[in-house]
Amino acid sequence: MSLIVQKFGGTSVADCEKILAAARKAIRAHQEGHQVVMVVSAMGKQTDQLIQLASQITDRPAAREMDMLLSTGEQVSVSLMAMAIHSLGYQAVSLTGAQIGIRTDAIHTKARIKSISTDRLRQLLDQGNIVIAAGFQGIDEHLDITTLGRGGSDTTAVALAAVLDADACEIYTDVDGVYTTDPRVLPEARQVDRISYDEMLELASLGASVMHNRSIEFAKKFGVPIHVRSSFSDAPGSMIVGEPESDDRPVCGAAVTKHEARISVLGVPDRPGVSLQIFSRVAERNVTVDMIVQNVSEAGHADISFTVPRDEMQITLEAVQEAVDSLGAGRITHDDNVSKVSVVGLGMAHQTGVAEKMFAALAAEKINIQMISTSEIKISVLVERDAALPALRAVHAAFELAKKPATSLAVQTPTRESADAADVASRCRASTWRT
Ligand code: ASP
Ligand code: MG
Repeated sequence: MSLIVQKFGGTSVADCEKILAAARKAIRAHQEGHQVVMVVSAMGKQTDQLIQLASQITDRPAAREMDMLLSTGEQVSVSLMAMAIHSLGYQAVSLTGAQIGIRTDAIHTKARIKSISTDRLRQLLDQGNIVIAAGFQGIDEHLDITTLGRGGSDTTAVALAAVLDADACEIYTDVDGVYTTDPRVLPEARQVDRISYDEMLELASLGASVMHNRSIEFAKKFGVPIHVRSSFSDAPGSMIVGEPESDDRPVCGAAVTKHEARISVLGVPDRPGVSLQIFSRVAERNVTVDMIVQNVSEAGHADISFTVPRDEMQITLEAVQEAVDSLGAGRITHDDNVSKVSVVGLGMAHQTGVAEKMFAALAAEKINIQMISTSEIKISVLVERDAALPALRAVHAAFELAKKPATSLAVQTPTRESADAADVASRCRASTWRT
């Protein structure tokens, strides 16, 4: 019998009507002959409200108690979901993370799943139940409740799909699927039929908040095809899978990271250990550094520039000042009025002229590039903030992202046959499964 995991995000269960609508989707899949595991997030903005409540008591809540608190949001929604399914005449059982046996490490508020036992789930499914799993939570070795980080229900869903060797993992959300860029920023953005795990991970790291990052890593590791679709329509959605949408397109998506800051350290001595002096102090303050550029030194001195999120600029400046003081050399400049524009695509790894095309599009718009960084599948440029949107529009057009690629495949919801035929060797069928 085929098995489907259906995950419903907070907006998809925001009120009782929506809970009933989600219940009907699960029942429909059940009627079609699938075993169904639902993974449900807390209702609407419930998690935010719980965080808000805690902050009215203290600004330093213990992480263990935060998990105790936040996990209640999902306990509310799963129980209501079970009641909704009962009221529609079907069998359902809700389970917390602990009841399922989702074991995590003990890093409260951002725990990682270590193992999941499937015995109870299988038994309940075989008895004809729709199983409703609380998203975003687990239990550590001391039986303390843990949570997986904001948005962690996605990871619960993908992990359950992996361990149960599900035929499909459907993520129901308030958008129609994955877009070439944020459609709220650029209306000409196009919904893609499919996107590869690697591309999605890059776009997510640039702020495309379609899914929890760890969930994509999981899906990639265990080969779980993810189907992102709207809970409010029957539109086909987007698949996140191993393969890109098109074999010959260099770029699949573009993104802008609006609030960046650039810091430059000019005239530091060009000798071993200098970068370490600077960046170890930045790292000590837990600031994530993004683009780093060091020029070729002249007369024994070098300039180093890098970017950080704008709201971490002050603390980074302190760190850099400390380094400059200890080096006894260097001058610091900064600019907090910059944005990063990036293009991502697996195809660029084996194509030439991709950067050139991006630079040509920017030059045609007279947009000045301040810094450039690249990876195998990403090119990013730093521009002044006012130029960010025109830059995004220009590169989106240059790579013809609004146009469907000729070789694009239609979305295929994995069927039982195709999944059985698929290579599931990387997935584990044991009753306890480890990451
Ligand atoms: N309720 C949690 C949150 O809002 C987990 C989730 O929605 O995935 O972050
Ligand atoms: Mg959420």
